[in-house]
Amino acid sequence: MMNNAGLRINPKIKRLVCSMSGREIETRGFDKPIGLCSCCPPPGKPVVVEYDLDRVELGQPRRSQGMWSFSDLLPVIGPRRSFAADVGLTATVEIESWSRRLGVTVLAKNEGTNPSGSFKDRGLAAGVAFGRACGAQRFCLPTQGNAGVAASLFSARLGLPGCLVYMPEGYEDGLYHREARYFGAEVRFHGSNIAAAGKKMRDDVAAELASGAYVDMSTFFEPGRLEGKKTMGLEIFHDLGADNLPDWILYPTGGGTGLVGIWKAMQELIGLGLIDPKSHRLPRMVVVQGKNCAPVVESFEAGLTEVRPVVSRGTIADGLDVPGAIMGHGILSTIRDSGGTAVAVGDEEILARFSDCGRIGIAASFESAAVVAALHRLVDAGTISPGERVLLLLTAGHFIPLGQRRVPGWE
Ligand SMILES: [Zn+2]
Repeated sequence: MMNNAGLRINPKIKRLVCSMSGREIETRGFDKPIGLCSCCPPPGKPVVVEYDLDRVELGQPRRSQGMWSFSDLLPVIGPRRSFAADVGLTATVEIESWSRRLGVTVLAKNEGTNPSGSFKDRGLAAGVAFGRACGAQRFCLPTQGNAGVAASLFSARLGLPGCLVYMPEGYEDGLYHREARYFGAEVRFHGSNIAAAGKKMRDDVAAELASGAYVDMSTFFEPGRLEGKKTMGLEIFHDLGADNLPDWILYPTGGGTGLVGIWKAMQELIGLGLIDPKSHRLPRMVVVQGKNCAPVVESFEAGLTEVRPVVSRGTIADGLDVPGAIMGHGILSTIRDSGGTAVAVGDEEILARFSDCGRIGIAASFESAAVVAALHRLVDAGTISPGERVLLLLTAGHFIPLGQRRVPGWE
């Protein structure tokens, strides 16, 4: 039996519930990793962790602990410092030149400083640690981007067998493939998109997934990734304070884990009495997608309560090339409950804002540039009013777009 590096289930977990039905999920003492619910039609819906908030103390951010500064609100505790002390606690800073230009206060939270280079580290650190604490021996996922790299890195940090990563055909020898291999992954290629790669993975390792030896780390397929991404919301609260929360948070949305996670953080902070919704204004959550693949934007505009999948026509922002969302109900309710909105931007706008970012010294991925494009749109349209405070979630830095391939239309 491999040792589990001091990882333990957080005793302040109250229960796990189905995100769709609200029904409690049987955990059997966490003797096996938790996957999708079994109360909804197969494959099931995402499961969400609830805490006994009367017993929770929200820790102060500490450089030596990274995102585990907030361990009372994470499902797994006790990781060694070397596991994730360098994850999270990213700075929130004002971009003064944009504030002046647009007449609003523009804040940016840049996630590119995480160890594998993106915000995915938060979710995969928590998800891998949680799965391991539940007895998992190996992790697997389909990916077309940073999630596979992050899952591979944290598998390596626990000394586990290499993460099993499925990518669509055509990703051979690309940046994500090489990065995942660098962190010890076993990479397989199948199909033309992430859905096909994921189906093949679930067929290939069905027995290992059923026994709980392997965990399917696909977006929202296990509850840990959401909890890890939630720490972005806890940090925003800590950095700005309840009296100064942003009026808007703009978030580049593929699977939507971070969007739902930040909103979950706000609800838990209300539950802890640290935010009072009667006197503090909560941020309005804005989904940003690419015009050629905008299932959330289209479903929001159509007034749906579930996200209707689309056929992607492709976008240069890989992280936005996600044609469906298993947590669509949670994404749409987050937008509506927060009074937010959803915006789709074109590749040409993304490229123009990507150049803008570089010119003023901001390290931005294409997904981050999409958020900058959405900011300009929403200010121009009058949706965001003069003087309001807007926080842009910049999910990764410039190395990924520049290292992956030459960018048509840009250089
Ligand atoms: Zn269910």
